Formats: sequence, structure tokens, C-alpha cells
Amino acid sequence: NRRIVLASRPSAAPTSENFRLEEVALPAPADGELLLRSVYLSLDPYMRGRMSDAPSYAEPVQLGEVMVGGTVSRVVESRHPDFTEGDWVLAYCGWQDYALSDGTGLVNLGRNPQHPSYTLGVLGMPGFTAYMGLLDIGQPQAGETLVVAAATGPVGATVGQIGKIKGCRVVGVAGGAEKCRFAVEELGFDACIDHYADDFDAQLAAACPDGIDVYFENVGGKVLDGVLPLLNTFARIPVCGLVSQYNASSLPEGPDRMGLLMGQALVKRLKIQGFIIIDYQDRFGEFFPQMSEWLASGQIKYREEIVEGLERAPEAFMGLLEGKNFGKLVVRVGAD
Ligand code: NDP
Repeated sequence: NRRIVLASRPSAAPTSENFRLEEVALPAPADGELLLRSVYLSLDPYMRGRMSDAPSYAEPVQLGEVMVGGTVSRVVESRHPDFTEGDWVLAYCGWQDYALSDGTGLVNLGRNPQHPSYTLGVLGMPGFTAYMGLLDIGQPQAGETLVVAAATGPVGATVGQIGKIKGCRVVGVAGGAEKCRFAVEELGFDACIDHYADDFDAQLAAACPDGIDVYFENVGGKVLDGVLPLLNTFARIPVCGLVSQYNASSLPEGPDRMGLLMGQALVKRLKIQGFIIIDYQDRFGEFFPQMSEWLASGQIKYREEIVEGLERAPEAFMGLLEGKNFGKLVVRVGAD
């Protein structure tokens, strides 16, 4: 029974020294509890925030504690009336092989789910984030231009494809030619710009001849710099994530651009709204059937990158913060 704990807090990009793999005894369930074995572990950018003790919307992982994370797990032993051995569940067991649960927060996926790992991605937290952030805050209208970065990740890819369903011109931003090609050819985006290009701003402007009406903010940094002058009057910016900043320990060098941002917010009457998906919990029942239908009909496509072995989770997670993943990053912890 292996687990990966937070060994120390990173001051910039995480390194392998921040994690420690431990062997511990297999826990035994008490009455009313179940023993779960992780099959898939989700790796997500928010975990960088949990490694830090800076104030945030959620408590940090304490030093020596198991790294948190969503899992798709199987019930190994049940002393709980609602679950039986062999059931698949969506759980939050973290970076470890086995965990005990009293059933709180578990979603029973039954005996034979079709794509169990999808509940960590397009049919789960990231897909739901894309859906609510875009539709509730972004409010895209047919004919408008939508821009989204991290365009091939589970949030960005879903945002862009929903934008197409709603009749928008969709321009993605992604790291490298292969991801950009995928966004256009496989996901159906109208264009996708490589943020590593020297003339990124000019390419983005050329791809948005009518300006930008919805900017779904996933990354911040230089992508936001390129977007800002292109925003139309009454543009909406759902602020979902700022992954380019997650490893930063101080503000970036250069002139203070706060005045520029606020000036644009005023004269263009921008709506800039941050959100955390937990605030939308009571609307999951609206999202899930709709997304299942879009997936079944092929209107939404989904790509995963599956890494084999719990021991590779730290390396894969560090890569996620640098764009090394191509699709939703999932670790296969153990056999089905
Ligand atoms: P992704 O799988 O898309 O992974 C993150 C991607 O960000 C990388 O693959 C990379 O893509 C891109 N990236 C990393 N560093 C930079 C950089 N310096 N500049 C530009 N792009 C960079 O992750 P998710 O789809 O899971 O998450 C996307 C965003 O949504 C994140 O910001 C995350 O924190 C946020 N989020 C917010 C939630 C909320 O409740 N508010 C819930 C879930 C996610 P590329 O190579 O294409 O640049």
C-alpha cells in the first residue's frame, strides 16, 4: 500500500523533493466504512495551490499528509450498507493505493461503468467547470468570438466545443503546433494560436478580426496581455484559472498594468468574474445529462493522457504546470 505525501512546500515550480513515496500498512474498515482501491487518479492544476500555505479558498495539504486528489476507485471490502465489493466509485482518496471511507461524498458508478475515468474529466469536475463558467458567466451568443487558452486540456477543449455548439467563432490558444492542429482539426475550433510564437499578439489579432466577446481565462500572463486590447465593449471574462502564475512566488517584472486593466474594464464595460466550481454544486444535475448526450452524439470530443503508475504522479504533475500533458492528465494507479 503506497502513498505520496507532501514532503516540503515548493517556493517556485515543484520539484521531486517536495514529494515522498511511502509504504504503509493496509487499513481495515470499521463498521460503516469501506476500503477503496484507486484505479485512476486525477491530476489537476489546483493541486499546486494545495501545496502552498498561502491563503486560498481551500485548506492546504499539511506536511507529511497524503496529496489530495479525485480518484475512480473500487470497493475492496464493504461494511457499509450502500456499497458492495466490486462497485466503482468516484471518490477523493488522493495520491495513494488504498483509502478508507465512511461513504461521505462518494458517487456510486455501479458495477460496469462505460468510461470510468471520464468522471475525472469531461463528465466530472473539469467538464462541469467549462460548462458553468462558459454558459453562466461567459453567456456566449451565436456569431460572437470566444477565446480560450489551454485549449486541448479538459477545461479549455470543452469550453471551445461548447462555444461551437452555441454558434461562436472559437479561437484557441495552446502550446505548440501539434496541440494547435488538434484543436482545429479534431475539436473543430476555427483557429488556434501557439502562445510560444514570437508574434503571438499579432497572430491572435489576425484570428479575431471582429474582436473578442468572451475570453475564458485559464492561464493569465502573456495570453491575457494579448487578449486585452482585442476585447469588445461588454465582453465577458469568466476567470477560471491562472495557470501561468501558479509557480510564481512574486509579481512579474515590468510596469504595473493594473491601471490598464481597470481602465479597459471601465471604458469597455467588461464583466470579469472569478468562480470556483464548488459554488455550482447544485447544478450538476443539469450538466451531466447534457454532457453525456453531447459525448454520445460526437459533438464533444475528449482526449486523455494516461500515465501508468502512482510513482510517476509527481513527475506528471510537474509537467502539467509546464504544458507537457496533451489532454486530461490521469494516472492509472492500479488494475481494474
Ligand atoms: P490542463 O490539462 O489544460 O493543463 C494546464 C495547461 O495549461 C497545460 O497543459 C498548458 O497547456 C497550459 N499552461 C501551463 N503553463 C502555461 C503558461 N505558462 N502559459 C500558458 N499556458 C500554460 O488543465 P485543466 O483543463 O484541468 O485546467 C485549466 C485551467 O482551469 C487551470 O487554470 C485550472 O486551474 C482551472 N480550473 C479551475 C477550476 C475552478 O473551479 N475555477 C476548476 C478546474 C480547473 P498548453 O501547452 O496548451 O499551454
